[in-house]
Amino acid sequence: MMIKEWLIGAGIAVLAFLGMLHVVQILPILFLIGLGVLLWVVMDRRNAAAPTARETTARPNISFDEIGGQESAKHELREALDFLRYRDRIQSLGIRPIKGILLTGPPGTGKTLMAKAAATYTDSVFLSASGSEFVEMYVGVGAQRVRDLFRRARALAKRENKDSAIIFVDEIDVVGGKRGQHSHQEYDQTLNQLLTEMDGMSTTQSPFVLVMAATNRPDILDSALLRPGRFDRQIKVDLPDKEGRLHILRILTRNKPLAKDVDLEHIARETYGFSGAQLEALVNEAAIIALRRNEQQVTQEMFRDAVDKVLMGEKTGRRPTDEELRRVAVHELGHAIVSELMRPGTVSHITIAPRGNALGFVRQIPEDDQYLYTKEQLAQQINVALAGCLAEELHYGNRSTGAQNDFVQASSLARTMVRCGLSRLGIVDEEHLPEQILEKEVRHILAEQERITRDILQPYRSDIERFAEHVVREESVDGSEFRRWMQSMQPQVLTSAAVANVTQAIEASPTM
Ligand code: ADP
Ligand code: MG
Ligand code: ZN
Repeated sequence: MMIKEWLIGAGIAVLAFLGMLHVVQILPILFLIGLGVLLWVVMDRRNAAAPTARETTARPNISFDEIGGQESAKHELREALDFLRYRDRIQSLGIRPIKGILLTGPPGTGKTLMAKAAATYTDSVFLSASGSEFVEMYVGVGAQRVRDLFRRARALAKRENKDSAIIFVDEIDVVGGKRGQHSHQEYDQTLNQLLTEMDGMSTTQSPFVLVMAATNRPDILDSALLRPGRFDRQIKVDLPDKEGRLHILRILTRNKPLAKDVDLEHIARETYGFSGAQLEALVNEAAIIALRRNEQQVTQEMFRDAVDKVLMGEKTGRRPTDEELRRVAVHELGHAIVSELMRPGTVSHITIAPRGNALGFVRQIPEDDQYLYTKEQLAQQINVALAGCLAEELHYGNRSTGAQNDFVQASSLARTMVRCGLSRLGIVDEEHLPEQILEKEVRHILAEQERITRDILQPYRSDIERFAEHVVREESVDGSEFRRWMQSMQPQVLTSAAVANVTQAIEASPTM
């Protein structure tokens, strides 16, 4: 293979050279070569059509106990799977078998794990494929692959002496999108084939094949997929709540040596919005930090650094100038001051070590998972987001490019306010709200909150400087130290806006 490619490359180079010297007419030769390559690729694709589905282990050996949180999803799934486990009874009562189960939810929440656990629970063989594997440039390949997948599932089950198989199709939306919307028929044919296979299955068939599929876009699926006798069970697998995160963390740290000071509950609280996959990355990162520091145990502080890393990315080698560092410190202090005023005790730490895209950030400890926000809470989050650039403005008399993401966040919050009927416009119908009016109201909200935020920060103007120097020296400052500093100051005027409690607004903004 390598040699072949090398020869082709060398041949082309020689031809190009000759062509340059006008020794040979190069265009017709190039045309012929192009034709040859095209043919070769086509043949290659045709040959590759048969075996693609990753034949993951026939028995994945994952049980429901290894899946944290997701109690209701697990319960629902187990209930559906009992139809498969007690097929004889189902048959004698004439109940239609479940042929397909659709798992919906954001990436990394454990959908693949669920499918594997389902195979263990029902003592089935397990095959998995991904929607994108069926999509080829050549019509017919996808359909052929679907047919092949079912054939191999049955063959595998027979070989392993099982009377059922589970086929897991990840990213089903790639092939299962609404039919007739694609530029060519390949997707449609693949989907049709999948439906045909599912329609052809019956309870009496042995081995029985259950199709499980996953997507985070159930809304775009062709309705034919969701009809009875196809994917008629839909199970939502959502991001875990605090209890769920704690459960997942317990599972993931089972085999890790944890120091005495590790407080998994605290970590669960700090990781609002994390998926199971992100928690897995977090635990892994913490262990890597322990390894790098040559420690035998993973400590709470390592977990803290790991959260930063998962949220913001790896520390970068970038070394900003001292002037830039001071500006970043001033900016972050702006965020931290406003957020501490809004919700005392929640700044976890302030750091100006560049990570990923961010030059610095303030991390907050959310009090509790929150799903509903009042108008005041949204406004306060906007205040926190705008505080970075306003601190720069108060201190330097100008702003920088570092606040771009803060603005994105602030305007998205303002948009939420309008859409949820919490703006001057009152109740609105999102669908019929003209873009211009929305934009105008968003701008109004932002201008008003900008004024309020400036008023909140004004009294701290002269003190920020000294503490910013301290932050630059230390690189990272703990929440408790920051709070001591806040208390040591007596800002003269405090506006009424700086009251009540604000929600968590984890500053995960690339930039600062
Ligand atoms: P999805 O299929 O929803 O994208 P996966 O099942 O592939 O997510 O999860 C990826 C990884 O994240 C798993 O291998 C596991 O380590 C971790 N993970 C995700 N969700 C959970 C969970 N609920 N419990 C335990 N681990 C989880
Ligand atoms: Mg997955
Ligand atoms: Zn910022």
